Order: sequence, then structure tokens, then C-alpha cells
Amino acid sequence: MHAELVIVGNGMAAARLVQELKQGGGFEGRILMIGREPRPAYNRVLLSPLLAGEIEDQALELHSTDWYEEQGIELLCDDPVMALEPERHRLYTGSGKCIYYDQLVLATGSNSSLPPLPGIDLNGVMGFRTWQDVEVMREAAAKGGNAVVIGGGLLGLEAAEGLRKLGMCTRVLQRSDYLLNRQLDRHAAGMLQQTLEGRGLEIITNAGVECLQGNEAGQVTQVILKDGTALPADLAVVAAGVTPETSLARAAELDCDRAIRVDAELRTSAVDIFAIGECCQFEDNTYGLVAPIWRQARVLAQVLSGESDLYVEQPVATQLKVSGISLFSCGEIDAPNASVVEYHDPEVGDYRKLWLRDEKLVGAVLYGDTRQGNGYFEQLLAERAEA
Ligand SMILES: Cc1cc2nc3c(=O)[nH]c(=O)nc-3n(C[C@H](O)[C@H](O)[C@H](O)COP(=O)(O)OP(=O)(O)OC[C@H]3O[C@@H](n4cnc5c(N)ncnc54)[C@H](O)[C@@H]3O)c2cc1C
Repeated sequence: MHAELVIVGNGMAAARLVQELKQGGGFEGRILMIGREPRPAYNRVLLSPLLAGEIEDQALELHSTDWYEEQGIELLCDDPVMALEPERHRLYTGSGKCIYYDQLVLATGSNSSLPPLPGIDLNGVMGFRTWQDVEVMREAAAKGGNAVVIGGGLLGLEAAEGLRKLGMCTRVLQRSDYLLNRQLDRHAAGMLQQTLEGRGLEIITNAGVECLQGNEAGQVTQVILKDGTALPADLAVVAAGVTPETSLARAAELDCDRAIRVDAELRTSAVDIFAIGECCQFEDNTYGLVAPIWRQARVLAQVLSGESDLYVEQPVATQLKVSGISLFSCGEIDAPNASVVEYHDPEVGDYRKLWLRDEKLVGAVLYGDTRQGNGYFEQLLAERAEA
């Protein structure tokens, strides 16, 4: 089997790349996408509202099967690529297929990081990354009981709210002393915590996990904190970051650091192999949000179509997808040597804080009314570009 372009990984980066390639019209060869998951690429960002029961399965579709067919893109699902031979321009899949390529894109994403804690391998301990994870969580939640979410970042809070809405008594463990400590200042985090606690989530800050314990059947039963507190757990969801999926690239001796190293054309250390999305590392940056990945997909589509383009790093903005809670954050939070403009209306639960350096916006947090968020973000990008 041979294709001019083979894309390994059928996730969000891959789906965006083929869309850009087809829209641009400059790439004419045969495209084959090979994915490990049973489904074609879906909107992973919407797994949180899917878990919370706020949307239907169909809302996650990125491209219909008809679209792939119409575009002449071949899909191979449920068949992980197991080995790569860059010097021979070929790869092998789990089902035993040997596939030759002219150019290859690695878009293998990340896996949930599971810290090496005693008990991490127990049944009922899981990450939150895939549609299948949502199905497992829903099944667990159908039995009720207690859930512990390890990690009070965006993903952890979205998982916790979903499980709470499904009827589980849910606790969130946050290692630092306030929630979303990378995206929010202490005040906004306090407002968020109060709202979530008001809904019935229990949030434990400064919480280090000592171990997870289970029963004789190997099922998790409790999470033990470093201070000795034992929390009942029928389900433990670990949302403590992601690890880029680099195993293929490393085995093929591509240059890897924390992820697969790429240059500004998204090219790896092998001339005909590119990488985009959460599996790649540009300079010192790795990725966990889609905004930079969309820009990478646009650049790579140009490069694969024989045009010149270069990826440039830019700041990203973040939002929490928990219904009824609006928060927005961008740039440097608690920026050093910056002046602060702050507005707070406790009556309506509205809070805004801006950080300025040399009269230029460098960071913003908005809680409550976040309608100005994108405007601040555009201002921040424009002022940065001028500098
Ligand atoms: C619950 C959740 C909520 C999120 N919410 C947001 C949000 O609100 N905003 C935001 O910007 N980002 C969000 N993200 C992050 C966003 O989904 C990711 O940044 C994005 O999916 C990364 O795209 P990717 O293609 O690099 O990786 P993925 O989408 O993970 O795709 C990688 C694919 O490659 C496959 N693969 C790996 N190895 C192989 C192999 N050897 N062979 C074949 N296939 C392989 C994987 O199975 C996977 O399907 C969220 C993520 C999650 C999990």
C-alpha cells in the first residue's frame, strides 16, 4: 500500500490539517489517515459537555464519512501504527499492514499523565482524554458513589462537574493553594471555588496524594492524601497533565525532547516527516490547546502544498467549559513589574483584572461577564506585535 501523504493519528490536529489541505487545493496526492481510536477524528474539546450530558454524540463530529469520501481521503481506524522506518519511507500497523509514504505527518497527540503513585493501576483509576474515557466514566457514574478528581486545572474541573451532574459525590484535589493557578489570580479562583462548592463539589486545595487503595478485586476504594485523610473513591480521574505521544518517533530515532522536535515548517529531524499538535515541540514549547494547533495546521498545509510558510508562537487565551460559569484568561497572570487595573462587582459576581507593563496590556482575567475577553486578547496580541 502506498500514499503520497500518510497522517498518523486521526485526532483534532490531523482533521484540521486535511481540511486546510483540501481548502487550499494545492495538494493533489493520495492522503491516508491512520488512527488508533475506533472512530474518525471527533471534537475532543466537546468531551466535557458530552460527559455532563449537555450535548448529543453527533455534536462531536468534525467531518462526516461522506466528506472524507468526497475528498478522496482514506481512513484507517482502530489500527495503531506500531513501527516507523524513516529511511525506507514505510510503516507498519497493528493489523499487520505495511504502508509506504512519500511524506509523513505525525499527529499522535498526548496521553493522560498518570503519576507513578502506589495504586495507580487499580481498576477505576483513569485519565480523561478520549470518547472511550467518557463512556467508562458514564458507566461508573450510573452506579452512583464517590468520585475523586486528581487535579484542579481546566480538565479536572470539567471532569468533576460532569461527574457531579451525573450524580456522583465528587471531590477535586488541587495541589496548589487555589484552583486554576496557571490561568487565574487568587481572587478569581476564590470566586470560582465558591460557585463550584455552591453546586455541591468538594474542593480540597494543598492536597498531595500519597496513594490509592483498592479492594481484593483490584477496584479502587479510596484515595489517601499525604496528611493521612482517606477519601472514598469508586472512581478516580487523574487530570494531572498530559504526556506527548512520542513512542513511534523515539523508536525511529527522530530528534525528541519533551515531544517531537520540529522547526518552523513543522519538519522533524527526518526530512520527509512532519509533526503537529500535542505530539510536537517547537523551540521550548509544547501544546495543550487547539488555537496554536490550528495555526500549525495552516502552516503545514502550505508547506505540504509546496508553498512557503513558517509557524510563529503566539500567546493563547483560555476558557472553562462548565455551563453557567464564564471565565476568561490570557497572557501573564500576576505579571511581575506590572501595574494593575481591577474592577469587582460582588453583587453580580463580576470581576476583571488587567496587568499592564509600559502602558501595554500583558495579561487579563475576567470572571462573570467575559464578553470583553476576546477584545482584550486581540489588544494584547496587537501590542505585542508592535513591541
Ligand atoms: C476533555 C478535554 C477537553 C478539552 N478542552 C479544550 C478546550 O476547551 N480548548 C482547547 O483549546 N483545548 C481543549 N482540549 C485539548 C484539545 O483537545 C487538544 O489540544 C487537541 O485534541 C490536540 O490535538 P492532537 O491532534 O494533537 O491530539 P489528539 O486530538 O489527542 O489526537 C491524537 C490522535 O492520535 C492517535 N494516535 C496516537 N498514537 C497513534 C498511533 N501510534 N497510531 C495511530 N494513531 C495514534 C490518538 O489515539 C488520537 O486519536 C481538551 C482536551 C480534552 C481531553
